[in-house]
Order: sequence, then C-alpha cells, then structure tokens
Amino acid sequence: RDFSGVMDEVTGAQLIAESLKTQKVEFMFGIVGVPVIEVAMAAQAAGVKYVGMRNEQAACYAASAVGYITGRPGACLVVSGPGLIHALGGMANANINCWPVIVIGGSSDRSQETTGAFQEFPQVESCHLYSKFSARPSSLEAIPSVIEKAVRTSIYGRPGAVYVDIAGDMVNAKIERNKVRLVPCCPPPPVSSAAGDAIEKAVSVLKAAKTPLVIIGKGAAYSRAEDVLRQFVEETGLPFLPTPMGKGVLPDDHPNCAAAARSRALLHADVVLLLGARLNWMLHFGLPPRFNPHVKVIQVDLCAEEMGNNVTPRVALLGDIGAVVAQLLTCIRNDGWRYLSNSEWWGTLKEKIAANAKISKALALKGTLPMNYYTVFHHISQLLPHDCIIVSEGANTMDIGRTMLNNYLPRHRLDAGTFGTMGVGLGFAIAAAAVEGTKIKPQRVVCVEGDSAFGFSGMEVETMCRYNLPVIVIVVNNNGIYSGLDPETWKEMSKMGNLTSVAPPVALLPEARYDEVMTAFGGRGFLVRTPEELRDALQLSLDDWERPCLLNVLIDPSSDRKQQEFPWLTRSNL
Ligand code: ADP
Ligand code: MG
Repeated sequence: RDFSGVMDEVTGAQLIAESLKTQKVEFMFGIVGVPVIEVAMAAQAAGVKYVGMRNEQAACYAASAVGYITGRPGACLVVSGPGLIHALGGMANANINCWPVIVIGGSSDRSQETTGAFQEFPQVESCHLYSKFSARPSSLEAIPSVIEKAVRTSIYGRPGAVYVDIAGDMVNAKIERNKVRLVPCCPPPPVSSAAGDAIEKAVSVLKAAKTPLVIIGKGAAYSRAEDVLRQFVEETGLPFLPTPMGKGVLPDDHPNCAAAARSRALLHADVVLLLGARLNWMLHFGLPPRFNPHVKVIQVDLCAEEMGNNVTPRVALLGDIGAVVAQLLTCIRNDGWRYLSNSEWWGTLKEKIAANAKISKALALKGTLPMNYYTVFHHISQLLPHDCIIVSEGANTMDIGRTMLNNYLPRHRLDAGTFGTMGVGLGFAIAAAAVEGTKIKPQRVVCVEGDSAFGFSGMEVETMCRYNLPVIVIVVNNNGIYSGLDPETWKEMSKMGNLTSVAPPVALLPEARYDEVMTAFGGRGFLVRTPEELRDALQLSLDDWERPCLLNVLIDPSSDRKQQEFPWLTRSNL
C-alpha cells in the first residue's frame, strides 16, 4: 500500500526475502558480500533468521540440517563464483541424503555476462549436477513463483537440494509492488499410500518369515512415522534395526532393537521390511556376504526409481512410510498375527546382543590411560540427557560412537550420512541449536567430532560464540586421521628429516589444543585426559546454557574399533 503518493516499490532482494518467508523458510545461513548483502538484510526485515557463517560449505550443511529436522528447507545465501562453488559440497551432501535445502546465489550482472566479469561462473548450469532444480528468475516479477517452485520441489517427491540464481543487477532493481503476482505458500507434500493388493502380499510374506527384520532408515525419520512405527513394532513383536540416522525413530533401548546384533541380524534375516533406507554401501547393497542370498525384501519408499536398486524386492510398496506402515498395521490387525517372542531367531539375536555388550563394556572399563574410544563414550553416554541432539562425524569416533551413544528421539542424530561427508558436524550443530533456540524448552546439542573431522569446519566455532549457541563440542582427539602418533614419536620423527618426507600422511599435530580455539572466541574450553576430567568437564558444560563449550579429549592414538567380523565396505561375490 502506498500512503505517500510515491509509488510503492520493492527490490529484488525484498522479493526474494518475502517469498522465502511466505514459503515458510524460517532460517538462512550464509556469507554476505557483493551482490547479496541486501538479500540477507531483507531476509531479516522479513522475519527470516539469519546466521552468518565462516565458510559457505558449512552454511549449506546447516541449511540442509534445518530441512531434515523441520521438514521445511533452510536457505543458504552465497555470493557469486567461489562462494557458490564452496556451497556445492553442501548441496551434494543434501541431495545425496535426500534432505531439502534452497541455495540462493548472487551472480554477476546480466549486462556483463560472458565478459569475464568479477566472479563470473555458469552457476545455474553447475548446480544441475548437485540439485533437483536450478534456475534464474528471468525478471523481478518471476521471483515469487520461482522461489515457490524451488521450495516445493525441495520437499515434494524425494526431497533434495534446489538452486535459485539472482543476477547482481536484480538485487537492487525495483518494481512496483502491484505488478508482482504473489504466490501463496505451497502446502506440505501430498501423502501417498501403497496399492491394496501389494499390502496384502507384503503381509503374507511377512507372516511366512522365520527370521524377519525391520530396517528403519532416515526416510522413516524424515517421514515422521515414529508413532505408527512404534505401534507396528510393538503389536507385531518384530525385531528392528536402525540405520545410523534411523536411530531414535524408535529408542535405541527399545526391547525390539537388534542394533547390537547388527551383522547377525542382516546375515540371517529371511525377510527384510525396508522402511526408508537404500540398499547402498551403508546396508552392504543388500547382498552376500553380508545378507542371505535368498532374502526377500519388502521395500517401502516414496521414490519409485529406488525400487530394485541392487536387490529386486519381493514386494515394492510405493508411498509415504507413515501411511504405508499404517496400511500394513491395519491389514495385520485384521487377524491379530504376532511374531513369536520365544522364537529361535529372537534367541540368537539376544545372545549376540548380550555378547557384544559384554565386549564393549570390558573395553570401556579397561581403566588404562590414555583412554580408549569405548571408555570415552561410556562416560559420555552416562551423562547425556536422553533428549539431546547428537551430531557426530569422524571415522572411529562416528562408528564407535554410534554403537555406544543411544538415541531416544527421532531426528536427533545427524552424521556424515550417505555421502560420508566429513566437515558437516559444526554446521549441523549450529543449525540444530538455532532451531532449538526458538523453543521454550530447548534441547541440548552435542557435537561429537574426530579431531580431523573437526578441522574441516573448525572456524565455525566463532559462529557458535558470536551467536551464543550453547553447543557442546567434544573432540575425541587421537592426533590424526584414523589414528595418529603420540607426542614422543612425533618428536623423534621431526629429528629424522623433513616432516613432509617422513611424517605419516594420516598424522596431525599431537595433542593439538582445540580447546583453545574455543576459548579464543569467548567460549569455554576443557583439556581432558582422564575419565574424572571428562565427567567434570561434561557436567560443567551441560550446566552452562550461556555459551558454547569444547572438550578436547586426548585419547590413545592407537585406540581402535573392536574386532569386526567383516572388513569395511565389503562388496565381494558380485
Ligand atoms: P539411510 O541412510 O537411513 O539408509 P537413505 O537416505 O539411504 O537412508 O534412504 C532414505 C530413503 O527414504 C530414500 O530412498 C528416500 O527416497 C526415502 N524417503 C524419504 N522420505 C520418505 C517418506 N516420507 N516416505 C517414504 N520414503 C521416504
Ligand atoms: Mg582422529
């Protein structure tokens, strides 16, 4: 409306910001510069929360985590050329994780296209590989509909990354408001159910199973299927196995959870009900030697193209996890079927669960110094509140931490994911803390990092301190990638010759003071060597909601995973 007699005009920046807000994009992460500073300012004016980050990659990780946690994409705002290129890592990670995110990139002025302009780059073209949708509005009038389409595309069908380009000269260009057609908020994605005959077939396959297993993936988490899934598992009595980010959809301490017998459960299952998880490397492709060669898979996914990847399913149920599980449950309830709790299968799973728990406990209570991974996670798990959000990355840190740190709530675990990306942790933690910060009773965000993983985005500690985000970062520091050297060996090595010739490529600086990175910006840092110091530092951190804390936990650089039955990434017999 215009009360002054002057035309009511809006800029391109305002149109982007207001369209994002209309589409219920509530968070923006980014790094400003020419030509997008005004976009960030307009976003704040429109009521979108803006978090300024230190690297576009971490900004994009953060924006995508908001998408996974809330079901509505976060926005990532970047400058042209290198800014956008840094964000591609985050887009790839989001797209491969099937997480929604909307990246907004400034680009050079339209009049300078192909002239070698400042930071000129074919941005729309390069984003095609990393996204479901990549476009530049052709005019200011087109901005609301392009933003709506981008947001809708990011959450409809299989979720993923989208890109919207804004030419530098469009950011501050103006247009009369009444010339712009506003586009209303796109509704949540339509929910589809599976075909009735396929449901009946699936139930008959399930009932005939001797050694059934339900696998719960992060698609089930994203689908918010936790309530109906709990009913399904409890009424059928079936054992379930969560994938890494499927952890917490049902609590890890649920009596039907077979996570601690993972290898055995996968190997001997004759029927697998696959709920929102892909049969990719994370599930050993669904093939021998990790799976029974005759396993019958009932595959539930909303993406038809996913059906049959690596294993032809016995039954394919196309639809939303929550809706399809409800259908299965209705069909099963008709005749009150229940899987036998005294079966041989439950017996063999329970035996393995107990045996594995014993090994982990023995390693945890070893009492030697420096501590091993199991000791560290044992003490952490005793102190963490059940509702905390656990972010985790690193090789051993993530793998061992996954087995030792329980999740009790859905979408409360964020890790390196399908793409195996290292460097995601701090961005994810910042996103989770920003979302929690809007709640009356925020939950704790705990970011458990390997020392190498921490390094990829370590400067985001400044971001945490700047916004006073009460994240607890725990760096499990073994002086290297996979493993490093102790300080004495490192010293000897430096005498042997030039370190660039003799130092193992996996080694990082022994006992690096990551805790001082946190204190440098005003957060709290703790150097931890013993279980007592670990418990004290973690308790002090949990009691402090005023600032971020970092625990630098120095562990035995030779500490490793317990003996594994199968080497990592096995893919023989193909
Ligand atoms: P995990 O890492 O847990 O194994 P993946 O990311 O491999 O999980 O697989 C998740 C699957 O879930 C994807 O194939 C995706 O298409 C699917 N998916 C995502 N959201 C839903 C939903 N609401 N309903 C059904 N399937 C979904
Ligand atoms: Mg390490």
